[in-house]
Amino acid sequence: MAEIKTQTLDSYLRLIEISRDLASTLDLNTLLDDIVRASADITHAEAASIMLYDDTARQLYFQVATNIDEPTMRGLVVPLDKSFAGWIVTNRKSLRIDDAHKDERYFSDVEQTIGYSTKSLLGIPLITKNKVVGVLEVVNKKRGRFTDPDESMLTVLGAQAAVAIENARLFQQSDLIAQFVHELRTPLASLSTATYLLLRPEMSREQRDQIVNNIHSETLRLNSLASSFLDLARLESGRVQFRKTRFSVADLIYECCDVMTSKAQETNVQIRVEVPSDMPLMEADRDKIKQVLLNLLSNAIKYNRTNGSVIINSNFSETEESITIQDTGLGIPEESTPHLFEKFYRVREHEGTASGTGLGLSICKQIIQGHNGRIEVKSKMGVGTSFTIHLPRSSRIMPRTIESQ
Ligand code: ADP
Repeated sequence: MAEIKTQTLDSYLRLIEISRDLASTLDLNTLLDDIVRASADITHAEAASIMLYDDTARQLYFQVATNIDEPTMRGLVVPLDKSFAGWIVTNRKSLRIDDAHKDERYFSDVEQTIGYSTKSLLGIPLITKNKVVGVLEVVNKKRGRFTDPDESMLTVLGAQAAVAIENARLFQQSDLIAQFVHELRTPLASLSTATYLLLRPEMSREQRDQIVNNIHSETLRLNSLASSFLDLARLESGRVQFRKTRFSVADLIYECCDVMTSKAQETNVQIRVEVPSDMPLMEADRDKIKQVLLNLLSNAIKYNRTNGSVIINSNFSETEESITIQDTGLGIPEESTPHLFEKFYRVREHEGTASGTGLGLSICKQIIQGHNGRIEVKSKMGVGTSFTIHLPRSSRIMPRTIESQ
């Protein structure tokens, strides 16, 4: 009994500590990680997870857990009508279960896929301003059953977590939308000037052609701005689910080179590929890694010099695989490198050399981090730049999730 009391006291202290942190974190991913870890700690559960609820799509998405392979699980839709979490959202009530397998809401498909067995479960709805924003669950009490103090502590944590999640989301959205609208202004201004000029009778045939060309390239830029923006918004909201397969790195690199051949020919840039013959298969979302490589390769050509070259090589160690794209281009000033992966950031020195949105590298970073990897850059002005992506090798144990649906 005394032991239980000490445990509860520890948990209260932990709760106070985490509440302070929650209020000050605006990064959604860090926030969600903190919440699941604290939830498992204070209730002495084996694991904890959060599903976020999208009110408009009326869908529940898996987000984070203390024990899952996030790249694969993140964004996974959790069925509203066949899961404990769905029940919690629909009924807006907490749920405590001692033996999940005996419950009619128990749905074993996901459990089988991920191989984690749920015995006991405690879940609460995350509600703010009368809106359900998600579900917080802890599973498998380490000793005994989940208790009333567990439930009340999780409820307190959940109430604060809901507000913090909502704040972080609003901040994320307003930040992104404000920047996007700002970025729209420049191409819109030049389109409007262009049309005004076209209407002037004194414009020569040649001038008109040039203006039409301008309109064409500005529309292309707007188009790519719109799709990049959507990509990034999806990635940032955590709703993108990475679909992992095993594939040959060499095949993927050659495929990317094929796509870029004509662009490289325009400025006579040579592309060379070096892949070790024993390069192991990569386990990742192939399409997403392709998107990253195309982006880096396109930059390596775009910011290169005429007759320059690009070398793509890959490497591996026991723990990771890497791909480097190195160019002989303009290089990036030292003071710009810390900002390269920020949204809409473009190097001032390159303005006028090539058109772009400043979103490509942010997208690359989101994708690589979503795979638990990292992206690095080295550059020397006037000599060239190299970007390297590092991805963990798949030998690590596939972690398990906790929601029994
Ligand atoms: P953009 O659409 O502007 O190319 P990115 O996010 O892909 O956007 O890149 C951000 C900025 O980083 C670019 O505007 C460019 O100034 C710089 N940059 C990216 N890749 C290279 C490279 N290989 N060499 C030199 N500068 C680069």
